[in-house]
Amino acid sequence: MNLYVIGRPINHSLSPLIHNYWLKKYKKKEIYGKLDLNEKDLQNIIKKISNQEILGVNVTIPYKQKTYSLLENLNINATKSFAVNTIYRKNEKVYGENTDGKGFCEALIQETGFKFKQKKILVLGAGGASYGVVSEILQRDVNEILISNRTSTKSELLIQNFNNYSKQIKSLSWENLAPDKSIDLIINTTSVGLKEGECININLDYVSKKVIYSDLIYNPKKTETMKMFEEKGLLTQNGLGMLVNQAALSFKLWFNINLTLEDINEARKLCEKSN
Ligand code: NAP
Repeated sequence: MNLYVIGRPINHSLSPLIHNYWLKKYKKKEIYGKLDLNEKDLQNIIKKISNQEILGVNVTIPYKQKTYSLLENLNINATKSFAVNTIYRKNEKVYGENTDGKGFCEALIQETGFKFKQKKILVLGAGGASYGVVSEILQRDVNEILISNRTSTKSELLIQNFNNYSKQIKSLSWENLAPDKSIDLIINTTSVGLKEGECININLDYVSKKVIYSDLIYNPKKTETMKMFEEKGLLTQNGLGMLVNQAALSFKLWFNINLTLEDINEARKLCEKSN
């Protein structure tokens, strides 16, 4: 039985590189491939997992929310983030989980030593990735989360969704963005920076010297916004650690193997070389 990452487009996905490295290292016979799919094929993939023709899949853009709506059995992180990035079979049932948020937090801790407790966090963006990240950081005893998105109706919708769980989320206008020194962490979940020369319009005159800027984008390795923070002497990280950590959490769901930090770092280096 094989494993796949499914989405559209899927050509540039680094998931096969990461998983095939671990599969070989742990002497597993499975192979991890990629499938470019139509939305109507999703149900068929779920059926194949149920029939044990496929061991499991990762789901990527644009199908994470659609997969969430198709699966009957959802784990807590999938339920809270309204999205599924991993499908697996357990006790004869097919489950959906979302490992993105936890993958993000683990990478942040590994790379910067960040502690979430009582921290104030600014999240830029209110798209699919934002839901995964926000649902996870809400579980980490933070003080406050501010959401800033270009389309304010989308940040309001996100806040409404999470207010069922928490009252700690507020919105911040995208216009004239100028975070003050009370912010400990700024997370970019928007796609601004994917294209060459794109930079978030954010005024850094008032930020704390200790603020960390974490960008979910990993290609380019260093976004223009990361460069802007670094020019001010501020700590930044890109999204590669998140990608590898969410993969490690999926691997655990399929094989019940806890990958080590060494496994994670090796896969990360492999991705860096391939870029
Ligand atoms: P999405 O659902 O399409 O959301 C896109 C977000 O970017 C929205 O908030 C959108 O704002 C904002 N945006 C797009 N163009 C903008 C612009 N010109 N100015 C201001 N805001 C803009 O996408 P997603 O799935 O959330 O993914 C977002 C990013 O996260 C992508 O770069 C993706 O590669 C990255 N990601 C990384 C990982 C990882 O493992 N590292 C995992 C998942 C996603 P509006 O609402 O105003 O349109």
